[in-house]
This record gives sequence, structure tokens and C-alpha cells, in this order.
Amino acid sequence: MASRDCYDVVILGVGPAGLQAAVHAGRRKASVLLLGSARKSSLFTAHIENYFSLFNISGEEMLKRGTAQARQFGAEILEESVIGIAPAEDIFKVTTEGGSAVAAKSIIFATGSKRNTLGVKGEKDLLGRGVSYCVDCDGHFFRGQDVCVVGNESAAADGALTLMKIAGSVHLVCDRLEAAENLREEVYISGAVIHEGVRVETIHGDEAVEGVSLSDGRQIEVQGVFIELGAKGVLELALNLGVALDSEMKYIQTNKQQETNIAGIYAAGDICGMPWQMAKAVGEGCVAGMGAAAYAKKLKGRCRG
Ligand SMILES: Cc1cc2nc3c(=O)[nH]c(=O)nc-3n(C[C@H](O)[C@H](O)[C@H](O)COP(=O)(O)OP(=O)(O)OC[C@H]3O[C@@H](n4cnc5c(N)ncnc54)[C@H](O)[C@@H]3O)c2cc1C
Repeated sequence: MASRDCYDVVILGVGPAGLQAAVHAGRRKASVLLLGSARKSSLFTAHIENYFSLFNISGEEMLKRGTAQARQFGAEILEESVIGIAPAEDIFKVTTEGGSAVAAKSIIFATGSKRNTLGVKGEKDLLGRGVSYCVDCDGHFFRGQDVCVVGNESAAADGALTLMKIAGSVHLVCDRLEAAENLREEVYISGAVIHEGVRVETIHGDEAVEGVSLSDGRQIEVQGVFIELGAKGVLELALNLGVALDSEMKYIQTNKQQETNIAGIYAAGDICGMPWQMAKAVGEGCVAGMGAAAYAKKLKGRCRG
């Protein structure tokens, strides 16, 4: 649980970009909430040899130190993914997979850039013809039809719940559903057909999706396959707010102050583009943290909880 209803700076992401942003915003006396999980940072499994002054250290150790450092400067950490952000006058309302809702004067996207494709046969060929990476964007095309959602985390769980209101039937395929407990429970009682402990191996169809084959040999007939890997699609959250992406729709666009086109929204790290390197993530996190804290200060008095 977050300790307050409203924060100066809410940061999505507990990797190097988010943690560095938290340190710089915290040192400027901003109230800071970090959302996400250090274990899900790309750095967690890395071994670092090319960062200034540190040349033999595990990513896990760096994240442990960075987390303690951010807390020391006053940041709170809530290990939950964000599933919704809505503008509320000149601040934002952020909701998490665990059902928490907080207000934020400024937001920093520091969500990294994880692979979001399955890499299975049929996926590329049938993209836009039944295969989609965005329930919120394409779900309504499948009204009354049978669909399958693939993924283990909040994006898949939330996507399945959304599709239950639109589609004829919803199949959720996952190794193990790892979303927050309340979100998982909602999915289990939602009526979605859950296939746990299996993977999608092939997506079938000539002109359009006709079905999927699972790793246990079963086939499911569906017209839509939504690939929702990882936490709630960050680009989806950004697009819903009107945040501009690059021309390939892969990364969030910022200026040198790490500001997006929306006042009060910043981005830093891998989500802003290549090179995917910690040094870049940390530098951008520093700039975003200072900028977001200064922006929040100008909105003094707007936090009414
Ligand atoms: C195996 C490997 C080796 C690497 N080796 C090196 C190296 O030697 N040198 C180097 O400089 N870089 C290396 N990197 C790259 C480096 O780890 C990344 O550049 C860096 O971690 C990016 O930081 P970030 O903060 O932008 O994102 P990440 O560290 O990936 O953090 C993303 C964070 O966002 C959170 N998140 C995602 N979605 C949501 C959501 N909806 N709500 C809330 N939170 C969310 C996640 O939980 C996570 O905490 C390596 C990466 C890998 C995978």
C-alpha cells in the first residue's frame, strides 16, 4: 500500500532509469512513488563491466543498492505494475494491478523495453489479420468472436478481463499467471478458459487467424490472438494519454529534458530508444527526475488526494 493519496512524482519502473530518477527527485524534496519490480528490470540478469567506475558487479547487486539508495532519499516502492493512467484536470490518476489508485503531479515512464513478440510460426504473417499486440486498440474488432490471450503477467490478465466484455469466448494461455493476487482472482472467476503450464507453439490460418496449437498438443479454434507479454503494455498506457511515439511506434519520444509532448509526463531509459545501456538509462533518469520534481513544485496545492 502507498502511504499517501498523491505524489509529486510517480515513476513507472524500478530499473536504473527509474531508480536514478527517484534519487534526483527525492533529493529535491519531492514525494516519490516507484511502481514496478527490480526483478523485472533487464539489469537483473546482467553482469556489468562497462559502467563508469564499476567493472565487475552483478545487475542484481546494483539494483539492490539502487533500491536502498532511492529509499534513503525518501522514495517509496510498491511492487505492482501500472495498468491505467488517466488525466484528472492538471494531474494524473494512476491505477495498479493490485487495485491501488494514487494521484500524481508528474509521471516518469522508465519501463524499459522488453521483447513483446512470441517468435512463433504464423505470428508475423498473420499480424493485423487476427494477431494483435494491443487489446485496448484492437479488442473491439473481435466482438462475439473467440479469442486467445497469451502472456503471464498483468497485461495478459487485464487483457483477458477486457476481452470478456467483448468477445464470444476468451482463452488465456500462460506458463503461470503471475499478476497481483486480486487481478488473478478476477481472471479465475471471470469465465475465461485458462490454459496454465502451456505455450502457444503455432498460430494457424491462411488469410486470417483460425486457431493456435499448444505445447501439450491441443489445438484451440480462435479468430484472434492477443500477445500481451510482460506488464501492462507501456506503449498502450502512453498512447492512451496522447504521448507521442517515434515513427516506428516502438519508443516514447522526448526532448533533451526528457519531456514528452504531454506536460508533466517524462520518459527515461530503454523505453526512449537505443542504445539499451545502463549509462544512458541512468543519465536520462537523472534529467527526468530533476525535471519532474521541478514541474511538480509548480503545481503546489493541486494534490488533494
Ligand atoms: C542479459 C543482459 C545483459 C546486459 N548487459 C549490459 C551491460 O553489460 N551494460 C549495460 O550498460 N547494459 C546492459 N544491459 C542493458 C541494461 O540492463 C538496460 O539498458 C537497463 O536495465 C535499462 O534500464 P531501464 O531502467 O530503462 O529499464 P529496465 O531496467 O528494464 O527496468 C524496467 C522496469 O519497468 C518496470 N515496468 C514495466 N512495465 C511496467 C508497468 N506497466 N508498470 C510499472 N512498472 C513497469 C519493470 O518492472 C522494471 O522495473 C543488459 C541487459 C540484459 C538483458
